[in-house]
Amino acid sequence: MNLSESPQFLLDHMLGRLAKYLRFLGYDALFTKEDDDLLISRALREGRILLTRDTGIVKRRAVKSGRVKSYYVHSDDVLKQLKEVANKFHLSKKEIPYCTICNIRLVKREREKIKDRVPSYVYKTQKLFGECPSCHRIYWRGTHWKNFFQSFLEEMESQKLVVTSKDNASYQQIEESK
Ligand SMILES: [Zn+2]
Repeated sequence: MNLSESPQFLLDHMLGRLAKYLRFLGYDALFTKEDDDLLISRALREGRILLTRDTGIVKRRAVKSGRVKSYYVHSDDVLKQLKEVANKFHLSKKEIPYCTICNIRLVKREREKIKDRVPSYVYKTQKLFGECPSCHRIYWRGTHWKNFFQSFLEEMESQKLVVTSKDNASYQQIEESK
């Protein structure tokens, strides 16, 4: 993977919520309920990083050998999962998010053009709007960005997204014991 390129993810059936959060950050995060074989072949075919909570998958030859790029997500908590992945792959919030439902990048919309499609208080108070080209949901920064995981975003925006040394140690331990 070219470092300047944005990583694309493929998430297993246990990581549906994490997929939505990654989309909000602006990353292509495909979530499928396909079985292990299909997941692995899709990750290879599409050059996606496989994110999994399944210890069975990480033992598969293609994954273990590194042919399929993957990361075993340790936490059960979705915000911690997001931190793990953000740290591991140096993610930062992108300017334009993906639709959390369709996993398609939003298209910027002129404020005047969506006037009739959002509540008037939103129109009055928000400046940035995006529309999903597939489901045509309108997103705006005020609620969708902030309310969803406000504290996390604030942390990222203030560049404090660094795991504590204690967390760091436990990640290393887990990686070594694999
Ligand atoms: Zn959509």
